[in-house]
Amino acid sequence: MTAKTKLPQTGGCCCSALRYALSAPPVMIYNCHCTNCQKITGSAFTTAAAVPESGFAFTKGAPKRVEWRADSGALRYGLFCGECGGRIVNGAVPSSGMLSLRAGTLDDTSWVEPVGDIWTKSAQTWVRFGALTSEGQPKDYAPFAAAYRAQGRF
Ligand SMILES: [Zn+2]
Ligand SMILES: [Zn+2]
Repeated sequence: MTAKTKLPQTGGCCCSALRYALSAPPVMIYNCHCTNCQKITGSAFTTAAAVPESGFAFTKGAPKRVEWRADSGALRYGLFCGECGGRIVNGAVPSSGMLSLRAGTLDDTSWVEPVGDIWTKSAQTWVRFGALTSEGQPKDYAPFAAAYRAQGRF
């Protein structure tokens, strides 16, 4: 059996001006290959943990905010460090009650394992996908959430 992950989990940006605590388990974790994630990270994809807004709080610093129109057409916002530029979370406008936490900002990433890949149509050709895939924004996240629960990390 997988060892249970303790809460809260902590994290922050690379200069530590921003620190946060995650007090609720993620609903799911997946890789996002949308063009926005590629630009923000300067890499091939983001590993995103979908977490309840009520379970996430900054414990140090005040984030800067940016808004943009996502590949899905939805209006999104992101919170980032004004000192080092590190992106911490994204959310929806208006709020969906969920945040997309950039999992690489966690202090301990040993329990982070994505269950699949979304926006595969803009993925780099050399990427090997997980068990679940969606060409664009998934219409139904239930299989992703079920696969994440099945990891039994919380
Ligand atoms: Zn920073
Ligand atoms: Zn994305």
